[in-house]
Amino acid sequence: MSQASEKTELSAQARKLIEQHAQAIDRAVDEASRKLSSPASVLSAACGVLNLRARDVGAAGEHFSVHEYQGIEIIDALDERRLRGLRALLAGYVERARRKLDPAAAALLAEKLTPGVKELPQYPVGYMVHYMLVSALRAFEPLVEEGHGFEPAALELAMVHHLLAILDRYVQTREKPVVRHFSDVAREYAVVHRLKCPCGAEKYDVKLQALCQGPSGEPFDRLDLQCKDCGAQRSITFDLPHFRDMLQM
Ligand SMILES: [Zn+2]
Repeated sequence: MSQASEKTELSAQARKLIEQHAQAIDRAVDEASRKLSSPASVLSAACGVLNLRARDVGAAGEHFSVHEYQGIEIIDALDERRLRGLRALLAGYVERARRKLDPAAAALLAEKLTPGVKELPQYPVGYMVHYMLVSALRAFEPLVEEGHGFEPAALELAMVHHLLAILDRYVQTREKPVVRHFSDVAREYAVVHRLKCPCGAEKYDVKLQALCQGPSGEPFDRLDLQCKDCGAQRSITFDLPHFRDMLQM
């Protein structure tokens, strides 16, 4: 491990924004969870939770560029919070629901909603999952209208399960420490991909990825970047809180 690398830290303002908005997300999810009476109401609650993203991105954008490290970190943290909340909401309903999932309705959704939707990578970042859920919900609307021989409630319940399966896959990559480590590393590249150089170019090359050690021995990754257009160089760092879990495998 190389020593003495300057760490990229989140500012106090960014941390505060994350904390406040995370609490607002939790409150909204809590409130939405109390109004689930039918599969249709669950889907509309899910849309409500997903729509909170616009507010979070807007708030981040007021103080930070969404093409800069701080803004991207805020958005990723809040995306994760929202998706975890949504997963808890859906899972809670599915556990309590008396109605059974109709396998034929589930098969119809798998057939109709999956093609055309970009496959999620093995370690997706929150925004990828968000867009996948939103596009699935959009494609679901005409399906209910067409019916395909199912009553709406059967399709709606199948849709609740469909969304939950997507969220389960994501949350698993964020919950198990070892998997979480790989997910953290995969996110580093998803951050670089969204960074914009002050020259306006949106493409950085990763010149070097180095495993470093902080003052108290905590491991972190440093990525040395170079703008593909103007050649400007910069470094960003990422904490690796689950690095040691991986070593204990
Ligand atoms: Zn540049």
